[in-house]
Amino acid sequence: MKIEGIQKLTLLDFPGRVACTVFTPGCDFRCPFCHNADVVLYGEGAYPEEALFSFLQTRKGKLTGVAITGGEPLMNEDMLRFVSRIRELGFAVKLDTNGSYPERLKELVRGGLVDYVAVDVKNCREKYAATGGLDEAAAAALMPKVCESIDFLMTKPVDFEFRTTVVKELHEDDDFRRIGEWLAGDEKFFLQAFKDSGNILSPGLSAHSKEDMERFADILRPYIPKIALRGV
Ligand code: SF4
Repeated sequence: MKIEGIQKLTLLDFPGRVACTVFTPGCDFRCPFCHNADVVLYGEGAYPEEALFSFLQTRKGKLTGVAITGGEPLMNEDMLRFVSRIRELGFAVKLDTNGSYPERLKELVRGGLVDYVAVDVKNCREKYAATGGLDEAAAAALMPKVCESIDFLMTKPVDFEFRTTVVKELHEDDDFRRIGEWLAGDEKFFLQAFKDSGNILSPGLSAHSKEDMERFADILRPYIPKIALRGV
């Protein structure tokens, strides 16, 4: 399993749990606002798996969850075995994904191996190429997979969230109407304000104002009842 590194404690990454975070290298997207540019572009996965499991052994009873993020974790063919090993130690697992590996997602969920899935909905379907940093051909190839993951989660096989990182240069009012139409029937959705971590893929982006974020939430509410803002 390729692991880029770990964060030993997080109270934010896994809702309702005291967790650690595991970062996996590489991604099939190139979102301009990505705040893990080094992990996506240059990650080699050199952190030893055994070091992670030695750490987890010492945290039994202290941490209750492991959040797996990237990069895109599901790029790893080894994910099923890896997550199974974490579960054997008694930890709950949260998975972050861009949705481009629906078969691996289904395998994990149907196997009862993950407790919470967070999917980044980059934008309305029409703007996935620009928002995901993809050329049109790559976006056309990935979109059916993203849609398959979203459709699968909409059947509620596991607790999940959809969320969008909102960037002034990439998102405007009408995008949220289209996202609402796309995801109508979903129960909760998070709008996350863009923040420049200093390690983003395309520097120079900016955040919308609080008023803009509240207006986007209002646009989504007729379609999805529970809209929450993060980082505003
Ligand atoms: S923000 Fe985009 S580029 Fe960065 S890890 Fe997520 S999907 Fe990949």
